Order: sequence, then structure tokens, then C-alpha cells
Amino acid sequence: MRNPLTSLLHLFAPRRCVVCQMPLAGNERYLCTTCDIGMPRTNNHSRRENSMEKMFWGKIPIERGASYFHYHKGSDYRHIIFRLKYRGQKEIGEEMGRRIATELSVSGFFDDIDLIVPIPLHSKRQRSRGYNQSEWIAKGVSSVTGIPLNTEAVRRGKETETQTSKSAITRWDNVRDVFETIRPDLVAGRHILIVDDVLTTGSTITSCASSIMRAANDVRFSVLTMAMAD
Ligand SMILES: [Zn+2]
Repeated sequence: MRNPLTSLLHLFAPRRCVVCQMPLAGNERYLCTTCDIGMPRTNNHSRRENSMEKMFWGKIPIERGASYFHYHKGSDYRHIIFRLKYRGQKEIGEEMGRRIATELSVSGFFDDIDLIVPIPLHSKRQRSRGYNQSEWIAKGVSSVTGIPLNTEAVRRGKETETQTSKSAITRWDNVRDVFETIRPDLVAGRHILIVDDVLTTGSTITSCASSIMRAANDVRFSVLTMAMAD
């Protein structure tokens, strides 16, 4: 929580680009034009059967998949992720969600998707962070596309507690069963867009989708993440 004096100072401080820290022009939001143009976009959405989609082949019924930008250690674009996840700046997520949706809409990426499910956070983590960063990205996507956001169907259960006392097999079950689909009626028969902040191995998204598949019939998925870790 900012104290009132800090908030007041922020009113007068120049707004700066999240990536390069240069002052922003009046019409720029979070990113300056140079950093926006220079963003290492994957352009996944313009290619069918792209590398991102292939990560999910044979695991979940995937229609389309895209990550927005490449992320690697040391890249200045890491600040977007850092601020969103660890600095309480959830609005960056919404802004990025809007940008992503605006750019990807043109290619028909969102066509016939029925609802958006952001990867849920473990409730304890959500309480300490105060929000779910993936939900804020999804919010931005929803506001541009008009596709409804759903945060009720899936929840995240217990994870990683007392792992040391468990056998390897139980540990695997622990990972697999992290997600629980508590309202299958909300997702059955639908084309679901799963939204996450950063894609690494794809195992979290696969786990979430598998939970939905176990609970509900006739579901299809598309997958969208803000960044893809290289
Ligand atoms: Zn910049």
C-alpha cells in the first residue's frame, strides 16, 4: 500500500516506460513507442501449427495457440512481467491483454472462442499478492474481444506442501491434481481460451486443461500467454 505522500509524488513524477525507463509521451501507456515497436513479438498467431501449439499436441485438444513476446533472462522486457507479478501493478496486465487482443483479433485468433479461463492462482498466493495476474491479462483480452471471462469453473487446490515426505509418484500426482474443475456445467461443450502470464514448459496449462477435460465433455482449447520463456 502506498502512503498518501507517495501517491501525491507519483502524480507529479514523469510517467516512465516500463521497459527502458525513459519518460513517456502524453499518449503512451506503460511502454514508449520505441519499446513497443522493438518488442520481440513471436507472431505465433500468424502461423498455424506454430511451435507454441505443438507443445500441446497429443496432450489436449488444441485449436490455436500463441504467446505474445519472447522473454529471456536479462531482457529489458522482463520488467513487464516483474511489475505485474511482484510490484502489485496489475493494471499492466490489463493493458497488455488489450494490446494482445487488438493485435491478434485481425488474424481471427479469437473466432468461435466461448469463454476465457485464466490460470487460477493458489488461494494462499492470491491472498498474499492480492490479485491473480493472469486474470488481469484475461480481463484486458475480454474487454477488447467481448468474450466472457470465467473465474468460477476451475480452482487451484493444494500444492507443494509437505513434498519432502512424499514419494516421487505422489509428488507427480500432486502436480497433476493441482487444478480442480468445480463447475463443469460452465465449460462443457465449449471452446475455452486458457490465459497465462508466462509459458515455460506448458505443464501448468496442460494440467489445468486436463482437469477441465476430466470433469466436462466435449471441450476444446486455445491457449494464450503474454510471454514465452526462451
Ligand atoms: Zn521504452
